[in-house]
Amino acid sequence: MKNPTPRILSLFAALIAAAIVVLAEYVTSVSLFFEKNWISMLVVFFITFTATFIIFNYLLEHFIYRKIKLIYKTINTYKDSKSKALEKVDLSADIIGNVSKEVTEWQKNRTDEITELKKMETFRKEFLGNVSHELKTPIFSIQGYLHTLLEGGIDDPEVNVNYLNRAAAAVERLCLIVDDLEAISKLESGEMVLDQRTFDVHDLVHEVFDSLELRANERKIKLEIKEGSDRAFFVYADKERIRQVLVNLVVNSIKYGKDNGRTFIGFYDMDAHILVEVTDNGIGIDPIHLSRLFERFYRVDKSRSREQGGTGLGLSIVKHILEAHKQSINVRSTYGIGTTFTFTLKKAN
Ligand code: ADP
Repeated sequence: MKNPTPRILSLFAALIAAAIVVLAEYVTSVSLFFEKNWISMLVVFFITFTATFIIFNYLLEHFIYRKIKLIYKTINTYKDSKSKALEKVDLSADIIGNVSKEVTEWQKNRTDEITELKKMETFRKEFLGNVSHELKTPIFSIQGYLHTLLEGGIDDPEVNVNYLNRAAAAVERLCLIVDDLEAISKLESGEMVLDQRTFDVHDLVHEVFDSLELRANERKIKLEIKEGSDRAFFVYADKERIRQVLVNLVVNSIKYGKDNGRTFIGFYDMDAHILVEVTDNGIGIDPIHLSRLFERFYRVDKSRSREQGGTGLGLSIVKHILEAHKQSINVRSTYGIGTTFTFTLKKAN
């Protein structure tokens, strides 16, 4: 028997004890009763058996109950629901087996929890490091310009307006970073409530193109709707958040595009979803970067990103918004040829 229950153990113990007493009575001819016959031996057997069973069962129950209760108390401070189920120890069950199973499961959960906490701690440190690094650059330049102005530059018409403009640009950048950080933290904490309704995403893309036309013109990049996609596509989503997704993706296609390039947006009807595809013929991304592209502050080329006014948070925000919609985003890219981002939206009924 691999895992005898306490009741079976008590039964065995009682059986052995009763057998020994009966045997002793038989061999030594010392009878507990006046007459030594089979009836007296049966009575002795029965009494010994019952007494031993009760005593063993009682001791085992108390021993196991006390010890196990202690183990369970420890586990149950963590796993409260189980405590109710184990208020009373069921002696017919395989308690030792159950406890060892529970303890193993508990230990595994604890190990997983610790690994997860360690991961979060590393992530938190990395994130704080990144945030302070990002903030440091504009703060130091504002500090530099202000000091130069205070130390006499204010009276020099050659530099005063120029330095003030540069300080203002650095303040703009600070605001951009703080806005993006705020958006991420709201999305992560689930504080951002989606205002979902039915709208035409094709129409929204036209609005986004109009708002970014000047920026695209600076690099002579054409913003176009793919052939066959120039019609209404109704989706059910938070229009302003999806506008943010589209703006981030189109701005990236301009920032990392080539002069005289093109950005296309296409829509595909996929039963319950509309697939939106944003394609550019820009600088492209080396495949080694693709898996980390949506991480906060991840940039392929840090200096190019900063030069273009990027915070490194845009794609992370995009991913968060789509995940809040229970949708996903993917990227395909060929280095030197171009990049395509595709995401889905729920089709309106
Ligand atoms: P950033 O503010 O740096 O643009 P994002 O999160 O928007 O941050 O993008 C992360 C990185 O992904 C960028 O720094 C850039 O290297 C790369 N990237 C994003 N979009 C494109 C694109 N369309 N073409 C090439 N590279 C891109």
